[in-house]
Amino acid sequence: MSIHLSAEGLFKSYRKGKSPVPVLHGVDVEVEHGEFVAIVGASGSGKSTLLHVLGQLDAPDSGQIHLDGRRIDHVSERQRDQLRNRTFGFIFQFYHLLPEFTTLENVLSPLMIRYGMFGYLARKQQLEQRAKGLLERVGLGHRLTHRPCELSGGEMQRAAIARALASQPEVLLADEPTGNLDAANGQSVLDLLRDLNREQGLTMIMVTHDPHVAAQADRVIKLVDGRVEEWAPALM
Ligand code: ADP
Ligand code: MG
Repeated sequence: MSIHLSAEGLFKSYRKGKSPVPVLHGVDVEVEHGEFVAIVGASGSGKSTLLHVLGQLDAPDSGQIHLDGRRIDHVSERQRDQLRNRTFGFIFQFYHLLPEFTTLENVLSPLMIRYGMFGYLARKQQLEQRAKGLLERVGLGHRLTHRPCELSGGEMQRAAIARALASQPEVLLADEPTGNLDAANGQSVLDLLRDLNREQGLTMIMVTHDPHVAAQADRVIKLVDGRVEEWAPALM
């Protein structure tokens, strides 16, 4: 196995009025290709911040991030957009689906953005086939024209997973993906993530505050006081 994504010495503070709110104090992490890692920690410990920084949604104050050994935290705006839109896929607790769009349109939306209107129309059939295939893969082949408000929570998260996969990312970042679901739906979303990780060799980093959810990952990284405390699931 080789290191896919790594961060060294990440520091990050937010500013509240005049006073800084320190969140990450020298975080080091290494994630291997195809690994499924869970990040745990108390509420407010900086889990979401770390995920956003790793996925280039937010910048650290200092420290470095490498993807396949290439530094990615100080690239041009254009390269950063490419990393966000292609290399990393994101899944959030509250799905963040577009309410006016159908399930199929939601899955197609990152591809419309990537190719632009003309580029999208030129590839429309092929991209729609890809999106339908993904929706079938996540068990929503029969919900293509439903809008988010016509889906259950578990179905919305499945649609969000299909959307994240539409850009064929290398690394999937999930922030409390089961946090808004009941136990049964949460488990089936977790099983789906686990299967996708195995089938596609997708590197997966999942934030959760639930130790039962975290125990299903290959490895657990714990954030305490803005630093990493690591241990193996077998010892949990
Ligand atoms: P977690 O996901 O582990 O619950 P977060 O990364 O969301 O934690 O937040 C870590 C800390 O940073 C919290 O104390 C939170 O209140 C603070 N924080 C998060 N975002 C902001 C922001 N935009 N401005 C100021 N403080 C923030
Ligand atoms: Mg959070």
